[in-house]
Amino acid sequence: MSDQSKPVRVRFAPSPTGELHIGGARTAIYNWAFAKAMGGSFILRIEDTDPERSTEENKQVILRAMKWLGLTWDEGPEVGGNFGPYLQTQRFDTYTEALECLKKRDAVYPCFCTKEELDAKRAAAEKSEGGYSGYDRTCRNLDKEEAKRRIEAGEPHVWRLKVPENHGPIEFKDAVYGDMSFPAEVMDDMILIRTDGTPTYNFAVVCDDANMQITHVIRGDDHLSNTPRQILIYEALGYEVPTFAHLSMILGADGRKLSKRRNATSVEQYQAMGFLPDALVNFLALLGWSLDGETTIIPREVLCKEFSLDRITRKDAIFDETKLDWMNGEYIKSMGASAWVDAVAPFMVEAGLTSTEDIQTNHAWFEKLYPLVAERMKRLTEAPEKLSFIFDGPNVTLDERSVQKNLLKEGCRADEVLREVRAILADESIPWECDPLQDTCRELVDKLGLKAKLVFQPIRVAVTGSQVSPPLFESIELMERKDVVARLDYTLSEVFGA
Ligand code: GLU
Repeated sequence: MSDQSKPVRVRFAPSPTGELHIGGARTAIYNWAFAKAMGGSFILRIEDTDPERSTEENKQVILRAMKWLGLTWDEGPEVGGNFGPYLQTQRFDTYTEALECLKKRDAVYPCFCTKEELDAKRAAAEKSEGGYSGYDRTCRNLDKEEAKRRIEAGEPHVWRLKVPENHGPIEFKDAVYGDMSFPAEVMDDMILIRTDGTPTYNFAVVCDDANMQITHVIRGDDHLSNTPRQILIYEALGYEVPTFAHLSMILGADGRKLSKRRNATSVEQYQAMGFLPDALVNFLALLGWSLDGETTIIPREVLCKEFSLDRITRKDAIFDETKLDWMNGEYIKSMGASAWVDAVAPFMVEAGLTSTEDIQTNHAWFEKLYPLVAERMKRLTEAPEKLSFIFDGPNVTLDERSVQKNLLKEGCRADEVLREVRAILADESIPWECDPLQDTCRELVDKLGLKAKLVFQPIRVAVTGSQVSPPLFESIELMERKDVVARLDYTLSEVFGA
């Protein structure tokens, strides 16, 4: 266990091999929230040692997703820090240094076995009774002078960890899983440095975590089986072992592992689907952690104050998209008009309703759209659908079913209603505001002796095109008088030939 008196330093260490996975995002959130709650530091380290898959673009994708989620890091790419560089490919000298240290401590040995030899041994062992139990340690007992000669002669070799004999079980107390114990005898003399001089994952991670003075390693439980191996490396280097906290899996609603084929799995996808970063952070935080077992809306300030490792559960978490939708709706309701406009802007622009410049110039006008939909939206993507009619100028696209039900229904007198309404809305003496317009139209209920619905639904269809819309006169107020009148004229002529 690490020394509890040291300032907390945690890291999120993604391999930039694609988009930021939702499981990775949860790991990042836990590290970030834990750092904040403990007054510690949150470090972002990019594990880019896989040259084929670690591209600059993939790194940028991760950084963008982290920023969008609002998971600011105290040290890492772009911000720097005292323990950099924060890209593994720039830390090779530290791995060499660590290898030299291990050589001095006689904790490693060069291995000259070729891939073909190793494959053959493995195949033979797999056929035998005991099965394959790792490298057979042929080179472990090579004469030191001979090994030195072969290295100097340029013979390809890797460096392996000399797992100590009679080590006894490798034990650690995981902050989530509790007491863990792994037998050391089955641990392979793992490769630390490959033939090409690059470090293996386990070696690089231990060197970095130690050099960056990481106190708590919080990561997915797919790394649980690496942990005893990493502990052996810490011990060989004489470094203090940090506290580990392994996080259970996130499963889909069907109880199966989240998969790209069946689920949206990346942060970017959820962003494109119209979720808010605040809602996604809240939702992901609750996949495996709880504040008190019941509170569901936990703003990030509370999360950053209250997060603790002891409330992380071992049970697999279920990703319930209905709950995420509900939660997003709650955040939309409480976010306020100005923030909503900024969040919804890209979706409105993408739908072709407006431009970014228009939104910037007329921000106050766009904020008036918020009360029309705030109570009824789950995702930001719904905004263009619900509001597009407002942007159509004099044009209206009439929904056939709405026309049949509300304008052409036997005895509904919609043509009469719309003619009266047209006169009211064209009357310049009535201020173009919700209340006076609505009140004047309501007078038609008595005047024509019709139920309110038979007055208001035809107006709704003629102006918005549909029998379902945001509040009618609040919407009309945001449109231009001439355009609304033009829509009534169009509907009268299109539907009634008038
Ligand atoms: N780079 C590793 C991954 O993306 C994480 C390593 C760790 O957290 O120890 O899975």
